Amino acid sequence: MGSILVKNGTVVSPLDSRELDVYIEGTTIVAVGAALELSADRVIDASGCYVLPGGVDVHTHLEMPFMGEVSADDFTSGTAAAMAGGTTTIIDYVVPAKQQSLLEALALWKEKAKGAVADYGFHMAVTWYSDQVAREMTTCVHDEGISSFKAFLAYKGAIMVNDDELFAMLIHARELGALIMAHCENGEIVALLQERLFNQGKTEPKYHALSRPSYAEGESAFRLAAMAKAVGVPAYFVHMSCAESTKVLVDGRSGGTPLYGETCPQYLLLDDSVYEQPNFRGAAYVMSPPIRPKGHADALWGAIRAGQIEVIGTDHCPFNLKGQKELGRDDFRKIPNGAAGLEDRLKLMYTYGVQTGRISIEQMVATCATRPAQIFGMYPQKGIIAPGSDADLVVWQPEGEGVISAATHHHRVDTSIFEGFKTIGGPAFVIAAGRLQYEEGTLMVEPGAGNFIPRRPTP
Ligand SMILES: [Zn+2]
Repeated sequence: MGSILVKNGTVVSPLDSRELDVYIEGTTIVAVGAALELSADRVIDASGCYVLPGGVDVHTHLEMPFMGEVSADDFTSGTAAAMAGGTTTIIDYVVPAKQQSLLEALALWKEKAKGAVADYGFHMAVTWYSDQVAREMTTCVHDEGISSFKAFLAYKGAIMVNDDELFAMLIHARELGALIMAHCENGEIVALLQERLFNQGKTEPKYHALSRPSYAEGESAFRLAAMAKAVGVPAYFVHMSCAESTKVLVDGRSGGTPLYGETCPQYLLLDDSVYEQPNFRGAAYVMSPPIRPKGHADALWGAIRAGQIEVIGTDHCPFNLKGQKELGRDDFRKIPNGAAGLEDRLKLMYTYGVQTGRISIEQMVATCATRPAQIFGMYPQKGIIAPGSDADLVVWQPEGEGVISAATHHHRVDTSIFEGFKTIGGPAFVIAAGRLQYEEGTLMVEPGAGNFIPRRPTP
């Protein structure tokens, strides 16, 4: 690993885009300036291209055991796909089983992550609560570089926490300066509707969506916001999918509660007609929250444009249609929840956000790299092109058409929920910690090259 000079590109930050050169030595950005007079082992001409901070995807589930299956991408294949799409850092969720020690689950995830190609961090899910869990949360923050904890307000009878447990988490997080994130869907409502629909003989994938109405997400988001307000802590809504939770976020923020929101490309670009696909194809779109009816995406886009939803993640959690999703052929409740998105996120946001004028290129950088790094305590190591930051960047070709397809993606899964989506632009070069990982269509990654990124609590 030597030095790299990226010349003549337009370097983008959340604030502006400027013609600057970037000089990298080893794993670090050493200089950023106009017309740098420096020699380097490798010079990349970025004329006509944007130079973006490497993407930061703070919502992934690699090799995750869920609903009796394991998500199809492991840390190697998942982070390799990420790299091909310009994402150089991920945060994955450690999800302990109920009654399992958080630290024991963490040890398992550390083992799985050894093959990571890209840098990674962990969020810790809290699926049950006790004095031991509280102590282990403290250890996560103080000794393990994990400063964010997730509560599932859905999945009754599995990993859902009740209000008592959520309240205890929020109070303890306040002492630790940690951030509580939540999957907001009212698990009681979902359980009732699932059973009712199934008992009526309604077993197909589309009933998954009908059993998880947007009002159940809105209720759960409002409950979390109210509890966070009472305790006096920030809260983070993962994968927001609907107008109701967006309203909770916007109202809460204007009322002074520090709330953060994340959404994902699937909620911005798809509508619930996907569940009507024949031959069980709708199962590919079975995820929670589900894809919403037309109209909800407009609320999400509006909140992104207004800077209220600050993070675009993916909730990358792929399951194959064959052998995995098909386990729920006769019962939508048994279809493993999740889909792939890691590789596609930046291209989709560029094509359907920036190119359509919904957001600026600066907002794309803010939501896909800078704000996630800031909110989760990795900034300015990640999320910005600046001297001293990790040398993670993407030379982004602004033109050139492509099509997303399971036949060509790097995800290790047999379907794409974005099959046939046209894209414009994409990464020409991807550099991660000073390593050239992707060059004009060729991926040059090395299993195990990714490092764990410890994160601090953020005030
Ligand atoms: Zn998730």
